[in-house]
Amino acid sequence: MNNVTNNKNAVTIIGLGPMGQAMATVYLNEGYRVNVWNRTASRAERIVEKGAIKANTVVDALGASKFVILSLTDYRAMYTIFAGAEDALRDRLIVNLSSDTPDKTRESATWLKSHGAELLVGGIMVPAELVGKEGAYGFYSGPKAAFDTHEASLRLIGRADYVGEDPGLAQFYYQAQLDIFLTSLAAYLHATALVGSAGVSAKTFLPYAMKTFESMSVIGALAEAADHIDSGKYPGDMANVIMMGATADHIVRASQTAGINTVLPEAVKTLYDHTIAAGRGKDGWPSLFEAIKKNS
Ligand code: NDP
Repeated sequence: MNNVTNNKNAVTIIGLGPMGQAMATVYLNEGYRVNVWNRTASRAERIVEKGAIKANTVVDALGASKFVILSLTDYRAMYTIFAGAEDALRDRLIVNLSSDTPDKTRESATWLKSHGAELLVGGIMVPAELVGKEGAYGFYSGPKAAFDTHEASLRLIGRADYVGEDPGLAQFYYQAQLDIFLTSLAAYLHATALVGSAGVSAKTFLPYAMKTFESMSVIGALAEAADHIDSGKYPGDMANVIMMGATADHIVRASQTAGINTVLPEAVKTLYDHTIAAGRGKDGWPSLFEAIKKNS
């Protein structure tokens, strides 16, 4: 497989977990020549049956296309995979769609550059079953020219939002979104356990939990909070930190009495406590930001 394909309709995908498989399927359906490699070779079987070309080695995979997508558990996996294949990285665009910290992402941009490759960092914001479908989108950062060249291809897996040259930026956006997602999921589970301690089933509580998630976006609370955070002014005329902090305390105590895990509500209460101690009790809840942000 040494005939390098410069053709824009060729892609190499390394990493065939659910995301890699989903992306490979999208590109096959779009008529791309899709080259694949995966550590566990058997995982390539399904996609090869659909028409993908299996590379026997990483060097072959890199040789098959200049446009290379990585979909791995983390960036460490990339170093493991490319060890010994560094020469084959020259002139390649590596689009790494794996999760990791912004720092690790920046380091790997430098490492890839030292081997003649460019790194475009991406974070896809939908689960595998939605890749390439309505509503799918991802964040990208790194060299703008490389993004522009491959934007049309990237858009096939979802809307492609370019957020800047710093390779860490896409990872910041990605982790920030997952921060909301994971914390919200944990909050839902905690709330379900709290009400469940009184014998209420998850199914019975579900419509109320959904209503809360819905109303958080509908009432414009976040839009208002963003304005307050950017201005550093936190009017608390409608609902202040002392009132909400009292509720945070009630949730901790109700959880203790219910005998359920209290780690999550205690963390929230701590932020209210800090904000009140800092003299912001009469401010609005977005003022907790002052206790969370850098150098707070
Ligand atoms: P999986 O964990 O299922 O697959 C990860 C891939 O990484 C596999 O191909 C695996 O190889 C490979 N891998 C892991 N460690 C190593 C290593 N040390 N050496 C070589 N290969 C390695 O991940 P997903 O497909 O679910 O996710 C891929 C990325 O996409 C992740 O970063 C994830 O955060 C992100 N993501 C996932 C979503 C999802 O719904 N699944 C949604 C949005 C983003 P092997 O098959 O041999 O184990």
